[in-house]
Amino acid sequence: MPSIYNYSRHDFEKYFESIGEKKFKATQVYEWLYRKRETNIENFSNLKKELRTRLATDFSFDTLKIEKKESDYQTHKYLFRLSDDNFIEAVVMFHDYGNSICVSSEVGCNMGCRFCESGRQKKIRNLEAHEIVEQILVIEQDLKIRLSSVVIMGIGEPLDNYDNILKFIEIINDAKGIAIGARHITLSTCGLVPKIYELSKLPLQINLAISLHAPNDELRNMLMPVNKVYNIAALKQAIKDYLQVTGRRITIEYVMLNNVNDSNACAEELANLFKGMNVYVNLIPYNETNHLEFKRSSRNRIMAFYDTLKKNGLNCTIRKEFGTNIKAACGQLRGSMKNK
Ligand code: SAH
Repeated sequence: MPSIYNYSRHDFEKYFESIGEKKFKATQVYEWLYRKRETNIENFSNLKKELRTRLATDFSFDTLKIEKKESDYQTHKYLFRLSDDNFIEAVVMFHDYGNSICVSSEVGCNMGCRFCESGRQKKIRNLEAHEIVEQILVIEQDLKIRLSSVVIMGIGEPLDNYDNILKFIEIINDAKGIAIGARHITLSTCGLVPKIYELSKLPLQINLAISLHAPNDELRNMLMPVNKVYNIAALKQAIKDYLQVTGRRITIEYVMLNNVNDSNACAEELANLFKGMNVYVNLIPYNETNHLEFKRSSRNRIMAFYDTLKKNGLNCTIRKEFGTNIKAACGQLRGSMKNK
């Protein structure tokens, strides 16, 4: 039985037509699910009894189960149990401008970035769109809050689960439903070049972030195996194309690894790479993990790197840190019960 949270409004329209009902019922169902957050179908009062019974037999209303929750003053990390007993994590962050969630896109991850904890578990499977939607629904219900922005930066490589991610975005973006504006949705990828080209052709206003982490192939090959498939030149070309086609700025993520990629020479190389392009660099202080060979760059080093980028004309920010002490920060999510 499909999950009711796996259907976009358009999917519901097709469903209702297929059972001889009017298309507008899709909007009614959407409002119950995502506006009123009604989980008991018997309360969908503008649908007649037979139709409610039909929906109850055609769809599952089950959601993710909260297995564990850890909190600090501005972060909550959730460990969710999926229906097949796999685990994933999601993180909520409170900002002065609103609440954001970092969602996972896969169980495990195959990208194998050397410094990242999430890739220790190889990908077991993609998350279905509804399992990503439910990360939002269950957390909003648990905390009695509304989330205003979504980053797809948890466990997994979203462009390696392309169709489900697009369905997820369609569902949460729908104005009749959760209605999170596309400009409040950020997708982060390690650089799956063909999918970046595909994404650029869609009429989507979401933000795209690229995990670069190194300004040349030699270094990037060492840190990110994906670079052996799509090297920096190919990635840069895809970025250029995306900028041109969409007219939207791209974020370049760059994790600061002590004595690995944090020299001023690296900063200059990075600035040269993107000279004149509409990108900005988000420097991420490394969150230390069990990959003990990597350490965080010092504050002074990060500032020097930042200054060098600025001096060379590249816009740049330093990522604010959340949840390091509950292992909820970038690259620390694992989604397993072990070694917590
Ligand atoms: N697979 C996607 C999204 C998940 S990772 C991607 O690669 O973009 C989200 C960001 O956190 C990426 O930029 C990732 O490289 C970075 N990251 C991974 N491990 C980290 C760590 N230990 N400290 C800081 N950032 C890390």
